[in-house]
Amino acid sequence: MGNYNLKCLQCGRSYLGDYRLKCDDDDSFVQAEYQSKELDLKNAPGIGKYNEWLPVQDLLMTEAAPITYKSEELANELELSNLYISFSGYWPERNALIKTCSFKELEAHPTIQRLIESDHSSLVLASAGNTGRAFAHVSALNGVDVYIVVPPNGMSRMWIPEEPSDSIHLIKMDEGNDYTDAIHLADRIAKVPGIMPEGGARNIARRDGMGTVMLDAAVTIKQIPDHYFQAIGSGTGAIAAWEAALRLREDGRFGDHISKLHLSQNLPFAPMVNAWNACQRKIIPEIDMPEPKKSISDIFADVLSNRAPPYSVKGGVFDALEDTDGLMYGITNNEAKEAKALFESLEGIDILPPSAVAVASLIKSIDAENVDKDDVILLNIAGGGVERLKEDYTLSNIEPVASAKNPEIPLEDVLDK
Ligand SMILES: *Cc1c(COP(=O)(O)O)cnc(C)c1O
Ligand SMILES: [Zn+2]
Repeated sequence: MGNYNLKCLQCGRSYLGDYRLKCDDDDSFVQAEYQSKELDLKNAPGIGKYNEWLPVQDLLMTEAAPITYKSEELANELELSNLYISFSGYWPERNALIKTCSFKELEAHPTIQRLIESDHSSLVLASAGNTGRAFAHVSALNGVDVYIVVPPNGMSRMWIPEEPSDSIHLIKMDEGNDYTDAIHLADRIAKVPGIMPEGGARNIARRDGMGTVMLDAAVTIKQIPDHYFQAIGSGTGAIAAWEAALRLREDGRFGDHISKLHLSQNLPFAPMVNAWNACQRKIIPEIDMPEPKKSISDIFADVLSNRAPPYSVKGGVFDALEDTDGLMYGITNNEAKEAKALFESLEGIDILPPSAVAVASLIKSIDAENVDKDDVILLNIAGGGVERLKEDYTLSNIEPVASAKNPEIPLEDVLDK
């Protein structure tokens, strides 16, 4: 059964498409190998259009999808002739209908559908805010139990555009904990029988869901873009863009090159920028992220705060950068804030801080002459439209069911059943 197999990137071992996050023999990523090598679009409102290259059986009926359009105002300002914007968020005037306002919803729909199709009924994940919001929303729509562990700085992002349901179990971590502490606690909860781990970058539904950004761009532009710009915390979205570009290249109708990745982080917390610029496959914590909790508390785009990103692993960020001859940029808070104001005034939609980091990296790349004026450039605005959403919807805050002092807390203290 199934439209795909899972293949280990390290040893090549192949598995049937069950809910699996790693190879049995090593620690490498597994990747979906879809039967269909040509992308045949389905008739569906949102990312179901790309069902053939998503690890689900039934057609996804969500209206959530990235949109791609050719920029005029920002392109003009930056003197670019082929600047395309991918927007994941709420902007109904452009038919962008992601009501949790980030590309994390592109992973939540296929992940939960895949969970249901493999006969599981509950899921745990850690989130700095946007992922938790996306899964909470999907849980409210279909009743699947989700346990969401959120660090204190993520709590303000834990709202949904409808009434919260009992299927959402929000666990708030106390002050002093960060996103990586939340990941540790979520990993422990995932060992409870019946609760499946979401899996982060190892989750192929996450990667291929986010990969629809690249698919939508290629289908709209009618070619694989020359360049791809995104701000990264874990880099899963960037890995996803690379994997999607490889599939599109194999399809053959979208060109014979893949996009050069231009990835950015928010200074002073930029472990992957430091490791990549030092040509290192490993992040060396003392050198690449000294005083991480302090520097995380200083960044404007605080969702970009993963201390253990999938950088070194086979098929991870390092490999994606190497294969695409990619570049990394460190962006200051001021550069991000200026870029946010510029983008919003020219394109006419509000954007989230990480997307402002991506805009600033585009400006840097032009100054450094890393792109040519006529290159086909894809700028991934991975989150935006929250202010626009508030005009149309009433947002509900999700109340925590438990709080956790630290990641080692006894699980009976945080699980409500
Ligand atoms: C999560 C997120 C990112 C970073 O994505 P990666 O998983 O690190 O690729 C960037 N922008 C927004 C809006 C996000 O929610
Ligand atoms: Zn293997």
